[in-house]
Amino acid sequence: MTNITGTHIHYFHVCLRKLWLFAKGIQMEHTSEVVQAGKLLGDTAYHRRPDKYTELAIGGIKVDFFDAKNKVVHEVKKTNKMSDAHIAQVKYYLYVLAQHGLDNAKGLLEYPLLKEKQEVMLEKEDIPVIEKWVAAIRLLIDSNTCPDKIAQSFCQKCAYYEFCWAG
Ligand code: SF4
Repeated sequence: MTNITGTHIHYFHVCLRKLWLFAKGIQMEHTSEVVQAGKLLGDTAYHRRPDKYTELAIGGIKVDFFDAKNKVVHEVKKTNKMSDAHIAQVKYYLYVLAQHGLDNAKGLLEYPLLKEKQEVMLEKEDIPVIEKWVAAIRLLIDSNTCPDKIAQSFCQKCAYYEFCWAG
């Protein structure tokens, strides 16, 4: 069974077509300057972070910056334009951690370019919602039908822009 990752959850909240293409192994992130800039930001925004925090791989997810001492998942993002998707991703990380006995961890979304931070907690009522996301994602990625394009302004910054809209 496919591991559901933070990327699946994020894309589920952005565009179902993007999620489907990603899940089918059609990955174009390496060709997207926007995605590369975001990754570079995550690597460079906080220089001392690699010493202080650890990378955590558990239950099919990979958290780049985990503060094990304080049980905090740090997630660095470039803009807060898709904050609902960011929150969903971090809540999913907290959910997976709780499933593996790491209860009461919290999340911190960080937007260094905006100098903003947002705390994210996993509430009891989030759990059935997250389980519905996971079930819906599994259904979608098992399907052979690519979802329709969505015409959104953020398409221009999507790694699949050329794939979806060229011609
Ligand atoms: S370009 Fe738009 S429609 Fe295509 S995958 Fe990206 S967000 Fe979805």
